[in-house]
Amino acid sequence: MLKVEDINVYYGSIHAIKGISFEVQEGEVVTLIGANGAGKSTTLNAVSGLLRSKTGSISFLGESLAKVPSHKVVAKGLALVPEGRRIFLQMTVQENLEMGAFTQKGSGIQQDLEMVYELFPRLKERYKQMAGTLSGGEQQMLAMGRALMSHPKLLMLDEPSMGLAPILVEQIFEIIQNLHKAGTTILLVEQNAQAALSVADRGYVLETGKIVTTGTGAELLSSPAIKKAYLGG
Ligand code: ATP
Repeated sequence: MLKVEDINVYYGSIHAIKGISFEVQEGEVVTLIGANGAGKSTTLNAVSGLLRSKTGSISFLGESLAKVPSHKVVAKGLALVPEGRRIFLQMTVQENLEMGAFTQKGSGIQQDLEMVYELFPRLKERYKQMAGTLSGGEQQMLAMGRALMSHPKLLMLDEPSMGLAPILVEQIFEIIQNLHKAGTTILLVEQNAQAALSVADRGYVLETGKIVTTGTGAELLSSPAIKKAYLGG
């Protein structure tokens, strides 16, 4: 579904992504794990067209994304839930969700809202509440719900567990598992390697802009080198 081949991304003279390649097949949950600054967010931003690669190629459903502007990437079925969530703080929960439906024509929006509220009952209880007054976990749910309103074929999540209390991290990963069971294809970027590898079919390990290891979630979880570097021994 998504094929990334030999991309290189720079910030001025900083070479942040150094020739990485990976792919995501339909129905898979694939995770990119790595320490702070390894290049995980940069990779997602390159896929979603917010940053451009100087080389290589990124194709989605067989079509090159090289010249597709980021707002059109969403219409092609690729939704990014960015790090830090970027929800509209001065709008209500429901208004935020409606903003996620901007690629839809109107009639299905009510149904989509119901689908999101079923997945996140907490948001339903708070549909009139200003998004800025939600807790961190609720804001993450809202950002994910908003992305789902665009009916993504591929959902990209950038550090969904960041800043959340353990109980909320658990809830977010449970939701990721439910989405996986329902057939959603997910590319998950995480520093929480343990949680990410536990829900992922496959994973790639990024170190300073390069992929250094890949394997199934289970293989990476049991690898001594990964345990030592990312799973606290
Ligand atoms: P984190 O989990 O901390 O977000 P990450 O793996 O997502 O880490 P990136 O944010 O992709 O890492 O950063 C990769 C590298 O690119 C880092 O060295 C970072 O300092 C650098 N970088 C990221 N954004 C910029 C920017 N806007 N300008 C210059 N350098 C940047």
